[in-house]
Amino acid sequence: MGAKAKQIGQCTVDFEKNGKQIGFFNLPLSVHDDAWGVVRVPLAQIKNGEGPTVILEGGNHGDEYEGPIALGEMIRDLDPGLVSGRLIFIPAINLPAVVAARRTSPIDDLNMNRTFPGDPRGTTTQQISAFVNDVLFPIGDAFLDLHSGGSSLDIIPSSVIEPVDDPVQHAKNIAAVTAFDAPMIVVIDNRGDPRTATASAARAGLTVVGTEMAGGGTVSLDAVRICRRGVSNVLAHLGALPASLASPQENEPLLYEIPGDGHVIAGDDGVFEPFHRNGETVRAGQPAGRIHFLADPGRAPVELHYAVDGIVYARRQPGRVRPGNCCLVVASPYRSSLS
Ligand code: CA
Repeated sequence: MGAKAKQIGQCTVDFEKNGKQIGFFNLPLSVHDDAWGVVRVPLAQIKNGEGPTVILEGGNHGDEYEGPIALGEMIRDLDPGLVSGRLIFIPAINLPAVVAARRTSPIDDLNMNRTFPGDPRGTTTQQISAFVNDVLFPIGDAFLDLHSGGSSLDIIPSSVIEPVDDPVQHAKNIAAVTAFDAPMIVVIDNRGDPRTATASAARAGLTVVGTEMAGGGTVSLDAVRICRRGVSNVLAHLGALPASLASPQENEPLLYEIPGDGHVIAGDDGVFEPFHRNGETVRAGQPAGRIHFLADPGRAPVELHYAVDGIVYARRQPGRVRPGNCCLVVASPYRSSLS
């Protein structure tokens, strides 16, 4: 309805200026004890010479740490003379969630990755999404969205393909995601949800790379290393860093996907006991685990089953489950005519 709302907030970084700038996107937040305060979202840019504009995001979920750590290092350490083009870093984009170490923002309780394309007239999280969508995506050529499993999941470190309809864009995404060189490459459509950052970036025509780096609300030694070298590998692949900064390939570029029935969902209130570790091969119909009823020891546990063949890609971290909770995720070999 009506004209698009005007973008609000103020960015201290000049996107046209060469060199390294470390600043903020300041979004007004008027609360009881701070009438004219702001949310200071960190934003940095390294610009030099000719080349692509790459937007690097971490902290979309505030309890996922490998991406923000890798991006912070790059902001501090990268010599601008090595860059061809423009790198725009938003390593703690949902700042209130990052400060709270939560998936969702404590200000409006929203999951930023279900708020795109955002709304300048909305709540704080929706306003941050609108800044990314309306200000950053239009000047970007490529987008890296660095996620981990968060507090509720432990996921095999992987680079992630956002599926798109255009075969040319899809091929570019596969090439960039493969260049990351994670132990797995997985096509994830987030159950078809159009409100994610990567879905929105893909609609804007950008080349899109996602990740899932372990999780459990902690920092994984292995995943930090994978993420660090993966970001440099993708930037070298895109031509924004010299090829000499890419690492030799370590992993077989095998593509997986999460089928529609790849999620094992709890149907009871209890404690979930898994039967397999991440990475184990499983078959459709095989028992996946069982839900125990600790307050009713005479009651037999309820068994859950896999619905597809594949490998265990992710596992719920808290033992306690309620009906609807995702206990396990199976990834299957990718079947697409596009690849
Ligand atoms: Ca995430």
